[in-house]
Amino acid sequence: MKDLKGLFEHQLKDLYSAESQLIAALPKMAEKASDSKLKKAFEDHLEETKNQKLRLEEICEQLEIKPTGEKCQAMAGLIKEATGFMEEAEGDKVMDAGLIAEAQRVEHYEIAGYGTAVRFAKELGHVDIAKKLQQTLDEEYDADNKLDKLAESRVNQKAKA
Ligand code: ZN
Ligand code: FE
Ligand code: FE
Ligand code: FE
Repeated sequence: MKDLKGLFEHQLKDLYSAESQLIAALPKMAEKASDSKLKKAFEDHLEETKNQKLRLEEICEQLEIKPTGEKCQAMAGLIKEATGFMEEAEGDKVMDAGLIAEAQRVEHYEIAGYGTAVRFAKELGHVDIAKKLQQTLDEEYDADNKLDKLAESRVNQKAKA
């Protein structure tokens, strides 16, 4: 990795690994969620994530590189943490609150990654690729906002009770 191009390619592979790992982890999180809206949010984001992975495949094809070959250690850590939490959590309320907390960590990581990738793509003059990455970045922001709202409604419910 000697230049911005090499670094950009590395980042794309890292994101590809992150999305792949998340696709494997989200079904378990959806299964553990008891609030129907939270469950639906995980299921919807799973479908979105599969599409994000495809988008990265398209981008790598355009760049004539393979998307594989890199493991995102950060996503592995985040998923490990979420898995550990799911084993320890007792009761629906604690489970749901903790699932939102773990999922938002994931979304924030992805937002950081795609934000950087969009910037690199623009810097390297890849206009179409920057647009595709921006699309995913917008979806990650939406997913995070949705989780924020779910956390908020939970807090409001508790205040009312
Ligand atoms: Zn890496
Ligand atoms: Fe994603
Ligand atoms: Fe990573
Ligand atoms: Fe995401």
